[in-house]
Formats: sequence, structure tokens, C-alpha cells
Amino acid sequence: MTRNPKGSTRRPILIGGGQRDIFPSLPTLAIDKRDLDVLFCIYPVTKEGRMEGGVRKVYDVIIVGGGPAGLTAGLYTSRSRLRSVLIENGLLGGQMTTTELVENYPGFPQGIAGDELSRLMEEQAKRFGLEIVPQYVVEIKLEGDKKVVKTEEATYLCDALIICTGTEYRKLGVPGEKEFAGKGVSYCATCDGAFFQGNQIVVVGGGDSALTEALYLTKFVKEVTIIHRREALRGTKIYQEKVFGNPKIKMLWNSVIQEIRGDRTVHSIRVKNLKTGEVTEHDIQGVFLFVGLLPKTQFLRGLVETDEDGYVLTGENGETSVKGIFAAGDCRKKLVRQIATAVGDGATAACAAEKYLEMKG
Ligand code: NAP
Repeated sequence: MTRNPKGSTRRPILIGGGQRDIFPSLPTLAIDKRDLDVLFCIYPVTKEGRMEGGVRKVYDVIIVGGGPAGLTAGLYTSRSRLRSVLIENGLLGGQMTTTELVENYPGFPQGIAGDELSRLMEEQAKRFGLEIVPQYVVEIKLEGDKKVVKTEEATYLCDALIICTGTEYRKLGVPGEKEFAGKGVSYCATCDGAFFQGNQIVVVGGGDSALTEALYLTKFVKEVTIIHRREALRGTKIYQEKVFGNPKIKMLWNSVIQEIRGDRTVHSIRVKNLKTGEVTEHDIQGVFLFVGLLPKTQFLRGLVETDEDGYVLTGENGETSVKGIFAAGDCRKKLVRQIATAVGDGATAACAAEKYLEMKG
């Protein structure tokens, strides 16, 4: 296993030949590819004139996704002196960054702003040498027991891979949703709330996301109506109490949106009452949708086992159906999705990855 103490003597090495020539040639050169910082490969040029492949960087551990699970995994692996890189295309902190106040993460008795918690986690991981690259992963595959992670810019190789890609908001799938996305339809209150100053808006859903985002939106809007398809909320009791006690929030039970209407921006919705069948039209300017989450694991399909929704199946230590590939955080099939559980998952997967590398030798 390669480690990255300060003053490492490893050097980049230039090897000619096509992609297929490189790894077979290493044993003859008596070079252990794990001792290389970078493999510069000379690839054939495609018909379009693009270089196929490019630089292949080699690590002990690659972490894909920079939310609380990924940042924790990165903190642990880099603190264990494993050569680690975290690849994240979006904001470090993931969904934490759009959470106004995190009240249920231990250690912050008054709560902490989600973006501040993200910044602190990033700073802590970087302090131990975690490398972070802002790239978009397009493919993950196996080359023997090596894991190959391709981004739009480069190719990375590692022995242990930790997937922490989290989830994204599920779409409602009604007419007008796509058309008015960004023009009155939103999936993020902290990003878009301020655009709805003094407006009449609706929030759809009955889980923690809908409740916390509705509460946040009351800072800006005239009135929020939560539209829920049942008569009981799914969200945590403490958020329910806050919602029911907020004079700016109204509830519309047993109801679903059938259509979102507008011209340049949203001006109304058609709502069906599921008990009576009655359909009514409501004048509103904003629709915030929080109807559940979907795992961001499309690029893993066929590589590791997932459930029917795409959540990655793992053992207790976070290992997937493929040896050396681990999953942590919200993208994993599990009971509770919170920052605290994501952090626990990240630490567990990192320790299991370290054990795996030790066993591998
Ligand atoms: P969720 O808990 O799955 O809730 C989704 C809500 O949307 C449910 O109320 C569901 O109704 C409703 N829904 C689903 N499909 C619908 C459809 N087609 N039409 C209308 N309504 C529909 O999702 P979430 O609220 O995003 O939370 C996801 C996870 O993140 C949870 O584990 C949650 O605890 C966690 N989270 C925690 C916090 C926090 O602690 N601060 C904040 C946000 C999220 P039914 O209830 O009828 O199924």
C-alpha cells in the first residue's frame, strides 16, 4: 500500500505506448504501479482528434462525492496516510450547504448553519492532506482488482473506492413542472426563497424536507400552503409542531397538484382533492417540490448491486457486492438519512477500506 508521508520520493514517470501496453509493461520494468504518482500514457487519437484517456492518476482510495459522508471518509483515509482523492463536481457539503440551520448534529447546542458545517468539514479533511478535485464522474469500471474512475477531464485508478454520491430531489412529474423549472418551480428554498418576497407559494410533500423548507420560506413569502397527499405528515414531530404553530403556514390535506400553469413564470396550479375528487385552481407564484429523494447512482448500475430505486446495497462495513468498493451516506440503502448517520457511514467505510488495503498488501 502506498502512503503519502511528506517528502515522498515518488516521481511521475513517462511511459510510451497505447493504453493496453502500459500495465503489462510494468512488471518487466520492475516498477510497482502503486509507487507511481502519475502514469502519463500516450493514447491513440480518435477520429475527432481528441486524445483518448489522458493522464491516469493512481491513489490508494478514491472517494466520489463530497457531502458529509465523503468529507468524513476523506478525513479518515488521509489521516491514516492513505493516498486519497475526493472527486466532487458540485458544492462541497452536498445537501448540507442548502440547509439553513442544522439543529440535530451533535456538538453545536445552538445549531449551526449548513454551509458553515460544510466549510468546517472541508477544512478538517484538507488539514490531513485530502486532495479534492472539482470534476464530474462519468464512468466507473474495473480493471482486474483496480477501480477506474473516469471524469470528463481525467482517469483515476485506485485499490479502494468509496461512493458517497448522495441523493437528488425526486421530480413530481406533472405538466408544467419541467417547463417552469427555475421560473417559479424550485427544489431548493435556500437557493430560491429570496426571489419570492411577499408572494403566495406552495410546498409539496409531508417529509422533513417539505417541513423545514416551508419554515425557511416563511421569512420571505406572504403565505405558504403545504400540499400533502395524506392527512398525516411523515416529517419529524418537532418540525410538525413548528409548522402547525407558524401563522404563515396553511395545510391542504389529501391533495395533489395536477398541473402547474403560467406564461413566462408560474401563475397558478390545479389541485385535486383525493377524497372528494374536486379540482380547484389556485393563484400562486411559486411551487417548491419536496416529494422524496432518489440516489445519484446511475453511473454505478450494473457494477454494484442496488435495490430497485438504485440505492446501493452494502454490508455493515459499507462494502458493496464488489470487493474494495464501499458506499456511504444517503446513496446507500438504509433506514435513516441524516448528517449524523452519513458521517458515521463515512468513517465506517474509510476504516473498512483501510483494512481491505492492508489485507491486500
Ligand atoms: P421523504 O421523507 O421521503 O418524504 C417525501 C414526502 O413526499 C412524503 O410525505 C410523501 O408522501 C410525499 N410524496 C412522495 N411522492 C409524492 C407524489 N408523487 N406526490 C405527492 N407527494 C408525494 O423525503 P424528504 O422529506 O426529502 O426526506 C428524505 C430524508 O432526508 C429523510 O430521511 C429525512 O428525515 C431526511 N431529512 C432530514 C432533515 C432534517 O433532519 N433536518 C431535513 C430534510 C430531510 P407520503 O408521506 O404519503 O409517502
